[in-house]
Amino acid sequence: MIVAIDGPAGVGKSTVADCVAKKTGFLNINSGNFYRAITKIILDNNVKYKDKNEITRLARRYSLELKDGRITLDGRDIEEQLHTDKIDKWVSVHSSIPEIRNIVNGKLREAVGTRNAVIEGRDIATVVYPEAEIKIFLIANIETRAKRRYFQGTSKLSLEEIRDSIEKRDTIDRNKEFGGLKKTKGSITIDTSGLTIEQVCEKVVNKILDNVKEQESNKGNESGR
Ligand code: C5P
Repeated sequence: MIVAIDGPAGVGKSTVADCVAKKTGFLNINSGNFYRAITKIILDNNVKYKDKNEITRLARRYSLELKDGRITLDGRDIEEQLHTDKIDKWVSVHSSIPEIRNIVNGKLREAVGTRNAVIEGRDIATVVYPEAEIKIFLIANIETRAKRRYFQGTSKLSLEEIRDSIEKRDTIDRNKEFGGLKKTKGSITIDTSGLTIEQVCEKVVNKILDNVKEQESNKGNESGR
């Protein structure tokens, strides 16, 4: 079973996905980390954002893989290095390049294989896994999202600057030609503004349980025919 969790920055996707994965035993994949890792490679190599050929070449040259659910670059765990203000600033620009999206989508599908997985991002239900059994679209007001990021403690920016940075990233993410953030048919919207992560997690887990029950009852109906 595939559970797709999409939504804008700071809406609680990672924490909810972690919680759902722990409760279900499903594989947990954070697609944003792949885009962040590619952005790190590009920034470390001082490549200009307009040089799409070089960006694509570098993204192919390095080996990005998931090991025990953590992202590695040529075998080194780089997960702790992906939430800098600089990466936040550039990631939506680099992830707008269609070829970069193809590379990441291939890696995501390869990492999941035939397993049950919770995958979070922006275009999981629309592009990467349109066949996902459960599609969740998380939303929250901008104040809540900015505060969550602020209190995560990974940024050196003020609350106002974080709010501004999130809004800029949202605008680029929503307007991408390919893989833009949007809700799709059949996805369930959950406003996380007034809810705890535990409450959101429970809602998603209940949807999974409902789906399992439905599949079992369909099987029962078929065998009874
Ligand atoms: O989820 P997170 O905020 O870490 O994602 C970082 C950035 O990666 C997003 O702002 C977006 O530009 C890009 N992204 C994307 N498609 C995804 C996941 C993330 O374009 N499926």
